[in-house]
Amino acid sequence: MKKLLAILLALVLVLSFAACASTNETTAEDTNNTAETTDATTDTDTAEDADTADEAETADDAETSDAAFTTVEEGKLHMSTNAAFPPYEMVADGEGFQGTGYEGIDVEIAYAIAQKLGLELVVDDMDFTAALEAAQSGKSDMVMAGVTVNEDRLAVMDFSDSYATGVQVVIVTEDSPIATLDDIEGKLIGTQKGTTGFTYASDTPENGGYGEDAVIGFDNGLSAVQALKNGQVDCVIIDNAPAQSFVAENPGLKILDTEWVTEDYAIGVAKGNTALLDAINGALAELIADGTVQGIIDTYITAE
Ligand code: GLN
Repeated sequence: MKKLLAILLALVLVLSFAACASTNETTAEDTNNTAETTDATTDTDTAEDADTADEAETADDAETSDAAFTTVEEGKLHMSTNAAFPPYEMVADGEGFQGTGYEGIDVEIAYAIAQKLGLELVVDDMDFTAALEAAQSGKSDMVMAGVTVNEDRLAVMDFSDSYATGVQVVIVTEDSPIATLDDIEGKLIGTQKGTTGFTYASDTPENGGYGEDAVIGFDNGLSAVQALKNGQVDCVIIDNAPAQSFVAENPGLKILDTEWVTEDYAIGVAKGNTALLDAINGALAELIADGTVQGIIDTYITAE
């Protein structure tokens, strides 16, 4: 009898532990002392109901979620990015936000997450594709670069909950004959290499694109915009927030009214790095709930 009770108790411990550990809100700190004995002794119902398959599954979950996360460099949180995507990430003139050398929505959100996790934020600036790959391969802890979540990327990396929305828009010169998406047919499109804008635009016409030959991929958004000003391309397809800022800084350009595709931005981490992802999601949930994320977005993007 005693033995049975002990087994039952152990089972309840595992189950209540798993229940706590599998909720999205749990942070690294929270998961440290789950499975409290009071819960465990009163909660015998769940143990009786549980079948063996469930037990195995939840016990597994508990293990992965509870594992303490590690980072590339101890005490630091490395964020790979492409700091040419205003107002999400830019190279700062001076010392940048909190001495990072960079500024922007992603930089400030990343800094707030790092603080919650007790880490120092380090920003690693590189090409957009390299920034994605760095997180994928575990060279950086996470990529924040106005990264859109899509199927292709979900196949090779994991994403946090979304913290912002992006919309693909079209930039043209003020005197452009392009007024609608249909007018783009037969024209040359500038995009940034490796972005969703590039992917949609170069897709086949049956899939809503304009075909590979119609698209030129530039190293960053600003180079694409410069090519538009020089007449090398007829329009630029890019996310709305950087589009606004490029147009504000470059007279003679405008954004078409048509919004093309709406997307979710999220933080990317190496596939299977559940411990870090859970910690990031925990911090992010708190920062969204207390208004910090919206506050940061509002300081960079003023509502129209
Ligand atoms: N949101 C777009 C994407 O993920 C563009 C991001 C960027 O250029 N930094 O592809």
